[in-house]
Amino acid sequence: MPASALPDGGWIRYGVQSLGLEDRRLTFSFSGSPGGKAVYWIGTQGPYSMSETGRGRYSGSYTLRPSDTFNHAPVRYLLRAPDGSRAEVSAPGSVSSLPGPRYAEVTAPDLGQGVNPVVAGWAPVGGENLLYPRQGTQFAVLGENAGNFLTRLPGEPALPLLEVTRSTAALLPEGTPPTLAALTSAALSEGGTPGPASHFTLRLPLGARVPFLIQQQTNTLQLRLYETGGDPADLNTVSGTGPLTDPLLQSLTWSRPTAAGPLTATLTLDTEQQWGYDAVYDGSDLLLSVRRPPPAPADAALPLSGRTIVVDPGHGGSELGGAGALRVQEKDIVLPVAQAVAAGLRTLGANVVLTRTSDVQVPLYNRPLLAETLDADLLLSIHANALPDGSDPRGRRGVGAYWTQPQARPLAACLVAAVSSELPELGVDSPENGGLHSANLALTRPSTQLSVLVETAYLTDAGNLRTLMSEAGRARIAAALVDGVREFYAGTCSGQ
Ligand SMILES: [Zn+2]
Repeated sequence: MPASALPDGGWIRYGVQSLGLEDRRLTFSFSGSPGGKAVYWIGTQGPYSMSETGRGRYSGSYTLRPSDTFNHAPVRYLLRAPDGSRAEVSAPGSVSSLPGPRYAEVTAPDLGQGVNPVVAGWAPVGGENLLYPRQGTQFAVLGENAGNFLTRLPGEPALPLLEVTRSTAALLPEGTPPTLAALTSAALSEGGTPGPASHFTLRLPLGARVPFLIQQQTNTLQLRLYETGGDPADLNTVSGTGPLTDPLLQSLTWSRPTAAGPLTATLTLDTEQQWGYDAVYDGSDLLLSVRRPPPAPADAALPLSGRTIVVDPGHGGSELGGAGALRVQEKDIVLPVAQAVAAGLRTLGANVVLTRTSDVQVPLYNRPLLAETLDADLLLSIHANALPDGSDPRGRRGVGAYWTQPQARPLAACLVAAVSSELPELGVDSPENGGLHSANLALTRPSTQLSVLVETAYLTDAGNLRTLMSEAGRARIAAALVDGVREFYAGTCSGQ
C-alpha cells in the first residue's frame, strides 16, 4: 500500500509568472513496493511519470506554468507493482497556483532585542534559521508549504527559499502594494536602545520595516537591508562626516553588491573582540546597537568590578535535564555548580544574577531576557551532558562549550581551556574541535551580550559522573569556570 505521500498539506504558489523556475517546481513523492512503475495526476492533469529515486520511494517533479489554475487540486498516485498489481493513493494535501504577488507582515511580537526565539526565525526548508525578522516587517510571499509562508531575500539568488512559521506572520489583503523603504541618512548616538553609554547606536530612518540580516565577523558587523532604496555613494559621503564618528567605529561603508541586492552597511570596529549587538525597529527607523568593550578594572584585586554576569543553572522544576546511569538529575547537579560559580565571580567584583536559586521551572526565554534586562555583559548557562538512552556511552566524556555568535567563541574557548587544564581527568568533548561546538541554542543565540553554554561533563560517563556527584568535584569545576571568565577578561587564557 503506497504511503507517506506528498503534499502533506496545502502547497500554494502566488503569482507564478513572476517566480523563478526553482520556486515553481513542485516535487511529488510517495513510498510503495519497490521495482514498480508510478504516475501521478494533479487535479485532472496527468498522468505524469515518476522515477524510483530510493528503494520504494517514487518521485516526480512538475514546474507550474502561468496557465495553470489549480485551486486546492488533489494529487493522486498510481503504482503498478512488478507482479502486475495496482495500488492507488491520494495525497493528504493539495496544490494551488493563485494570483500574486502577495505580501505578509510579521505579527509575532519581538521578544527582547537580541534573544532571537527559534519560532520567529526564517529558515531554509528543513534547515537552521538564517535571520530573525522584527514585528511589522513586510515581505513578499512566494507561496505556502503546509501552512508556512515561503519567501526569498531579494537579490540573493544563492540563498535558498525560506520558510516563515505561519503563526508569526499574516497575509496582507490582495492588492496590497509592496513596501517602499529607502535610506538617505544615518545618525550615530551614545547609549543603547535604551541603555547607558555602554553602547553606540546607529539610527537608520528607512521609512518602512524591511527584512535585514546581520553577519558578524572578527571585527566587522555587516548589515544587509532588503527591499531598500538609497544610493550607497551618497550614504558614504554622509557617513564620513562628524556626527558619525565614534572611537569604536573605525569605518562605516555602504555598498550594494548587485543592482537588485540589499543595501549593505559594513561596520569595521576598532576591536577584535566584540561584546554584543542587537537591532530593533523604533517606528520605521532601524536601531543597530553595538556594545563597547568593558573599561579596564579600576582595582586589580577586583578584575570583574563593573561587569554584570547572568549565570544560568540549566533546567529546573519539572524540566529535569539529562539523566545518567544513577538517574541523577542534571538540574540538581548544575544548581550547586552555578551557585559556586556565582560566588566565585562575586569575589572578583562581578555583579552576578542567577536565573534560578532553587529547584524551580524557569521559562526558557526568560533566561536570556533577564540578561538583556540587566544589560548584562555575559550570559553563562551551565549544564551537564548526557547521551540519549540506548546510545553507546563509551568515548563520549569531558567538557564542551557551545556558542552561536562569533563574538562568544573566545569566551567558550577560555572556559574549556580552564576546565580541561584544572580537571584533566574529565577529558574534552570532541577534542578534535577543542571542545567547541557551534550551535543553534536558545541560550547561545542571544547577541546582546556574550552568550555561552557550558556542558561541564558527562553524566553518562562513570568517571565524569563521580566528579559531578562529589561536592569537591563540583567546587573544582566551578572554580575552573570562574578562572576561565577571569582569564577571558584579562586576555590571558590559553584557549583560542
Ligand atoms: Zn542541560
